[in-house]
Amino acid sequence: MTDMPPLSNLAAIDAAHHLHPFSDMKQLNAKGARVIQRAEGVHIYDSTGRKYLDAFAGLWCVNVGYGRKSIADAAYKQMQELPYYNTFFGTTTEPAALLAQKIASHTGENLKRVFFTNSGSEATDTWFRMARVYWKALGKPEKTLVIARKNAYHGSTVAGASLGGMKLMHEQGNLPIEGIHHINQPYWYAEGGDLSPAEFGLKVARELEAKIDELGEERVAAFVAEPIQGAGGVIIPPETYWPEIARICKARNILLVADEVICGFGRLGHWFGHQYYGFEPDLAPIAKGLSSGYLPIGGVLVSDRVADVMVEELGDFYHGFTYSGHPVCAAAALENIRIIEEEGLVERVRDDIGPYFAAAWKSLEDHAVVGEAESVGLIGGLQLAADKSTRRRYAKPDDIGSLVRNHCLENGLILRATGDRMLASPALTISRSEVDEVIEKLRAALDHLRDSVS
Ligand code: PLP
Repeated sequence: MTDMPPLSNLAAIDAAHHLHPFSDMKQLNAKGARVIQRAEGVHIYDSTGRKYLDAFAGLWCVNVGYGRKSIADAAYKQMQELPYYNTFFGTTTEPAALLAQKIASHTGENLKRVFFTNSGSEATDTWFRMARVYWKALGKPEKTLVIARKNAYHGSTVAGASLGGMKLMHEQGNLPIEGIHHINQPYWYAEGGDLSPAEFGLKVARELEAKIDELGEERVAAFVAEPIQGAGGVIIPPETYWPEIARICKARNILLVADEVICGFGRLGHWFGHQYYGFEPDLAPIAKGLSSGYLPIGGVLVSDRVADVMVEELGDFYHGFTYSGHPVCAAAALENIRIIEEEGLVERVRDDIGPYFAAAWKSLEDHAVVGEAESVGLIGGLQLAADKSTRRRYAKPDDIGSLVRNHCLENGLILRATGDRMLASPALTISRSEVDEVIEKLRAALDHLRDSVS
């Protein structure tokens, strides 16, 4: 038996009572969690007073930056007026209705309706059911299978973890559930071999066609992918990829689902990632940047194609969450979107800070341990390489990525590592000098890797 932790020690209390997501609990408890206490702009501060530049916007979500008092005010005001009411059984609230309208003002002409959830994972479960319900309502109940991609992340619920292509997640809990199939991701650097990125993009996109043939078109309901695969390593697809995927989904009459949980709300310099890639999905889960993480809220954008069937043919969708369209979360999200609009943050990412970040990020490609450094808008993926001339990767990718990430952390910079890829996803408000600081600190960590691993 270990001694009870002293109550003054928050990390010890945490270790005794708090089980964390995606954390090695034994290691965490031995070391004690970092306690984050406050935040402002792109900076967070821990309980020892240390300041970090958060180049990851929390978990890809704090798009408008920390410390927005007007979002807190909007939530406070709403909480006083109507802290809660549901949207079940024929009711709505002002913030929920206005938020749905506001979101629709930034989507394409056929993507005008939204179903609210509390998170991206719930949004995944929601579209997953919707896709099946849609085909059933059209008299095709056998169209139930969904094709997703290896290494994708779509959340941690049972459907989310199943649709995601993370092996380690599948190993916990006997996943994936039945009816879900995975094809390869468009990860040219690691898997492209001698093909050009453009050739490789077409090749992996056509795996979708081959998988549909294998399963039978009449059994496939949908294909899902993130416009840019985020947690899987910021895998930016070759430009040939998305047009071919969109063509195949249309030709084979299967629903195209774009997971916009990370890419939505300005990250790629457009309101939604699919707009950057020039296609329109049938369903699109959203979350994160919808409220910049100030309060939990997500949803599914639903195309007319699907919504019309749900409304006219189905009528009642037996699905919903107590907090679907929660008025306080919706009020916070409305204010968040107002800020994005008023400050022109989407345009800023497209025309100003995005290109600045892209050039700075790309400049790291001159480093001996960097294979490539790609970005779109304010999302970047940097490939660590043991030998950049042959695209040879390090033998222990996780150790290498952790080494770079930890060096950054020790120097006051928060970046994420997925295996041997370094990921950046800062607030859309990051300044040029803050971008310079990210690059400078990351470069120092790359030097450290070069000097410590032969
Ligand atoms: N989809 C994508 C692309 C994500 O990156 C995430 C979370 O990181 C999710 C879904 C799940 O969202 P949540 O964590 O809000 O459930």
